[in-house]
Amino acid sequence: MKGLSHNLRRLACMLLLTLSTAALGQTRDFDYRLSPQQVADGVYVLIGKTEDFSLDNGGDIVNTGFIIGREGVIVIDTGSSKRYGEQMRAAIARLTPLPIVLVINTHHHPDHFLGNQAFAVDTLAALADTRRAIEAEGAGFLDNMYRLNGDWMRDTEVAIPRRTLTAGPLEAGGRKLELVALGGHTVADLAVLDTPTGTLFAADLVFNKRAPTTPHAEIKRWLQSLDQLQALRFNRLVPGHGEVTTGTDAIEQTRQYLQWLDQTLRDGAEQGLDMTEMLALTVPDKFAGLAEVRTEFRRSVTHLYPAAEQAALQRGR
Ligand SMILES: [Zn+2]
Repeated sequence: MKGLSHNLRRLACMLLLTLSTAALGQTRDFDYRLSPQQVADGVYVLIGKTEDFSLDNGGDIVNTGFIIGREGVIVIDTGSSKRYGEQMRAAIARLTPLPIVLVINTHHHPDHFLGNQAFAVDTLAALADTRRAIEAEGAGFLDNMYRLNGDWMRDTEVAIPRRTLTAGPLEAGGRKLELVALGGHTVADLAVLDTPTGTLFAADLVFNKRAPTTPHAEIKRWLQSLDQLQALRFNRLVPGHGEVTTGTDAIEQTRQYLQWLDQTLRDGAEQGLDMTEMLALTVPDKFAGLAEVRTEFRRSVTHLYPAAEQAALQRGR
C-alpha cells in the first residue's frame, strides 16, 4: 500500500513536470555530460556543480570518483539517479576494460547512493550505520529527489549496499586503500584514502567553497572528524562538493563555517530569539562567497535551532 502511494505520487509528480516542461517548450536529453578528470595516477573525479538539486542539473551536484587498480575499479559514490550511475559506468568503461569490483557509498545522502542500481549488487558496500540509514530513509529521500529533479530520476530505486565496510586497510582491484570511519555530517561518514597516490576522498565531511548541508549533522562530532582528517597524510583532497584541493584549506573553511554556525545557534538560543529572527540573520562577509550559503544557513537554522533552544533551556534551569 505504501509502495502504491509512493508510486502514484511519483507518477503525478512526473506528469506535472512533463506538462510544465512541455509548456516551456524545453526538451532534455538527460545526458549529464560526465567528464572524468584525472587527478592522480589511476584516480578520477567527476566534479558536480555547487548548486542545489534542480530540474536543470538533474542532481549533478556531487563529486563522485573512481580508482583504476591493477585488476579492477573502485567506485566512490554513485550520484543522484539511475541515469547518473549508468552514465558514470559508461564513462569508466571508456577508460578501462577492467571490471568494477567495489562500489563504496560514503554516507546515506541521496546524491551519493541513488546511482547504485547501475552497478552489480554484490559490489555495493558501505559502513554498517550507512547501510541501516539507507534502509530506513532511502524511500523518503527518493520521493523528494523525484520532486526536485524530475524525469532525470526515471526508474531510480533504492539499492541498499550488501557489503559492510569497516575502518582500516582494504585491498580491492589490486589497489591499497585506507578506510577512515568518521561521522558528524551524518551518522556515519566514510573517508577513503588511495594509498599509492595519497588522494583523500573526504566525502561530505568537507565542502570546498560551498556551504555545508546539515540535515543530519552533529556539529561537535563533525568538527572532531575534521581534526582526524587534518591529521592524515594526503597529497590531495576530493571534497564531497566543490573543487579538488591539495592543502587543508577546504577542511579549514568547513571547520570555520561549522564553528560559526554552532556559535550563532547557541547565541540565538541564549538571547531567546525566535525562529523568524534567526532566519533573518545575515551571514558574515567571510562566508558570503560560499555557494548556496543563504539557502543552507536557513535550512540549518530550521534543522538545528529547535535542539539549540532546548539545550539553552536546560542550561538555564
Ligand atoms: Zn551529504
